[in-house]
Amino acid sequence: MSRRRGRRSKVQERLARCRIDKLLLLLDSKNPTAQISPKKCINFVKLIGKRYNQRLSSSQKIKFCRKCNSKYNSNNSRFRLSKNGWRVISCLDCGAIYRFKFNLNL
Ligand SMILES: [Zn+2]
Repeated sequence: MSRRRGRRSKVQERLARCRIDKLLLLLDSKNPTAQISPKKCINFVKLIGKRYNQRLSSSQKIKFCRKCNSKYNSNNSRFRLSKNGWRVISCLDCGAIYRFKFNLNL
């Protein structure tokens, strides 16, 4: 009776991917009628990503703080680009600092 264990099916993975993309789109939209708060949205993204092993793309990762789940905006974050290609983001809400390596050669 037990279902196949191990890897999740491709369909499930694609569905999860799709949901994450939609949630992040929702996060980006300035739609005031959105029923979901940014923090909830980010929480879902993290939850789905964890459950289905979906990694966020680097452009998706820089949208929010993974520590306090707040969406970055000009007031709560600081973006810096270092000379050797690292992008440094500081969250002014919780003080977390993230470094992202961007491949500028591509
Ligand atoms: Zn934070």
